[in-house]
Amino acid sequence: MTDLTTIKGLGPTTIKDLQALGIKNAEDLVTYYPFRYEVIEKSNINNLQDGDKIIIDGFCENNPNVFHFSRKLNKMSFRLNTGERLLNITIFNRAFLKNRIAITTPLTVIGKYDKKHNAITASDLKFGLITKTVINPVYHSSFKLNSKKINKLVSLVLGKINIPDYIPDSLNEKYHFMDKAAAIRAVHYPIDMDKTDLARQKLKYEELFIFMLKMNYLKNNKQINIGLARHVDYAQIDQLIHNLDFQLTQDQLSSIRDIYHDLTSPKRMNRLLQGDVGSGKTIVSFISLYINYLGGYQGALMAPTEILAQQHFNNITKLFPTLNIALLTGKTKAKERRIITTDLASGNIDIIIGTHALISEGVTYKNLGLVITDEQHRFGVNQRGNLKNKGITPDILYMSATPIPRTYALTLYGDMDISSIKTMPQGRKRVKTILKSNKEIKDVLYLMLDEIKKGHQIYVIAPLVEDSEKIDLENVNQLEEKMQKAFGKICNIGTLHGKMKADEKDQIMEKFKNNDIQILISTTVIEVGVDVANATMMVIFDSFRFGLSALHQLRGRVGRNALDSYCILISDRETRRLKVLTETNDGFKVSEEDFLLRGSGDLFGQKQSGDMCFKIADLKQDYNLLLQAKEDSQAFLDSQDYVNKKYEHIRKIVEKSSNLD
Ligand code: ADP
Ligand code: MG
Repeated sequence: MTDLTTIKGLGPTTIKDLQALGIKNAEDLVTYYPFRYEVIEKSNINNLQDGDKIIIDGFCENNPNVFHFSRKLNKMSFRLNTGERLLNITIFNRAFLKNRIAITTPLTVIGKYDKKHNAITASDLKFGLITKTVINPVYHSSFKLNSKKINKLVSLVLGKINIPDYIPDSLNEKYHFMDKAAAIRAVHYPIDMDKTDLARQKLKYEELFIFMLKMNYLKNNKQINIGLARHVDYAQIDQLIHNLDFQLTQDQLSSIRDIYHDLTSPKRMNRLLQGDVGSGKTIVSFISLYINYLGGYQGALMAPTEILAQQHFNNITKLFPTLNIALLTGKTKAKERRIITTDLASGNIDIIIGTHALISEGVTYKNLGLVITDEQHRFGVNQRGNLKNKGITPDILYMSATPIPRTYALTLYGDMDISSIKTMPQGRKRVKTILKSNKEIKDVLYLMLDEIKKGHQIYVIAPLVEDSEKIDLENVNQLEEKMQKAFGKICNIGTLHGKMKADEKDQIMEKFKNNDIQILISTTVIEVGVDVANATMMVIFDSFRFGLSALHQLRGRVGRNALDSYCILISDRETRRLKVLTETNDGFKVSEEDFLLRGSGDLFGQKQSGDMCFKIADLKQDYNLLLQAKEDSQAFLDSQDYVNKKYEHIRKIVEKSSNLD
């Protein structure tokens, strides 16, 4: 990388301004691409209105007049003969050009047209006539550095640094790509848009190629023979599966097969288990932990919330009563925590369930063989691989209920294998989703009453915990009052919100599970994972405040058995967007829609923010290019050219990225 300070003509202030745009070195600067182009055709002055932007050419009619207001401020004026008219041109702070402009000098003037005075206040002046369309690159700029300035700074750097091409020759030939340096020039200094488009295509492909190369490299590399080849008889797993109180779905079974295969092979597992909310990922994770246990290793399951960790702990201890299973969360008392950490280090604990506490300081394992992360999109990248372990590289399984549009799956999880649970367990009914306005609240209360009368339970979601001064939201307390008024005499109502202490939350949750509470009012703390089969109705106030995917997750809390279930979305706004949910129960469709409406940010939490920052490629537009790059990059990794280190510079940046975890 070339330090900006070594570039002649770049002062410390400019360097600071560049840094503010995220440009840290000369290479960043040349790859700081325009995000669009302003194409200006020569204006037809007869069609212009007062104040319009104008670009016009002609010959100077007189020697320019210059007036100096101060040392820095000056004004130059002259007349321009366009062949059709004489225009008065004024331009500020270009006095230094005076000596180059005389009668008959050909000039192009860009500026604002003042119809009444037949004048132009010029923002730019170029020597020569317009031979073609003028194309101005537009950059993401700042107050300090506008597009024009950035473009100029790029030219300072170009030619002074080496710009390697990261596409191997064979591929450059295959796609007839132009030379890299030429492409960079065509993107920053466009002459005709066709050529610039070709240049952009090359640079996009290069970016995607490198990205997929890294992904494929990681994937190949993560799986080299550093895994644990456990010896486990599948008959033991079959036995367990037969003894469950339900029959696993085909997809659950094949996911278990995938995982069994990974865990018993010397390849290291790096797998994503993907399945819509309610599809039954948990049991698959428990069986994976069991395989790992039978293979002689400790296993860890990490959940994003305490409630969820507790739920997993309760269920898994029921399933495997003879194993040593512990729960470690942020609320585990110091004394208990000490015992648990000692037992983990000595190997007394077979399986540990917990929250972030599992990766906190001072937790070490004797022989951690498998790490499972539930609702993986809730965790940041940084947290993965933080588990301390003595000398073993554990196998990794991520679970996610956020279905990901295929482009993103490829980029987000390109370095992983994926198992998908596509079908719901048998007997599930579609959750009926109903859209209501606040005016129709009475209808909602009657619907709720029906469920209560049937002995079922209800979740009620409020978006905020405390009164917000500006926005009038239904908050938890108000809601509770409302619900008490309506149902207080016939059932028990509990409240759950983020500000509560963990054990208070657990108590309430426990009561809801035991049906001591029939209506649970909550903020989105229950959004992920919680499983109460007798709950058949989800009522969400101000539902427009949530992303579609979040709503789909919430809805997934009900409809967990053969009973008729309902999701009631209350909203006075954005009902068109919410309508998607009334039309489909398919998480994939919902997330596609969510993605189209809101972009990717909301969908995945943090992980994508770093990984998906492309400088010129656009995942939505360039999906086919991405597929091509994926295929080409794997072929390249397998090629003799790669093995023989023909492209050392490509190899270097690829292998540098291999320390992701
Ligand atoms: P998620 O994939 O959202 O984590 P869970 O694992 O919590 O879903 O499963 C939802 C519910 O479905 C649980 O009550 C679970 O016991 C139940 N379940 C899982 N698999 C099956 C199955 N094959 N048949 C019937 N019920 C199942
Ligand atoms: Mg789950």
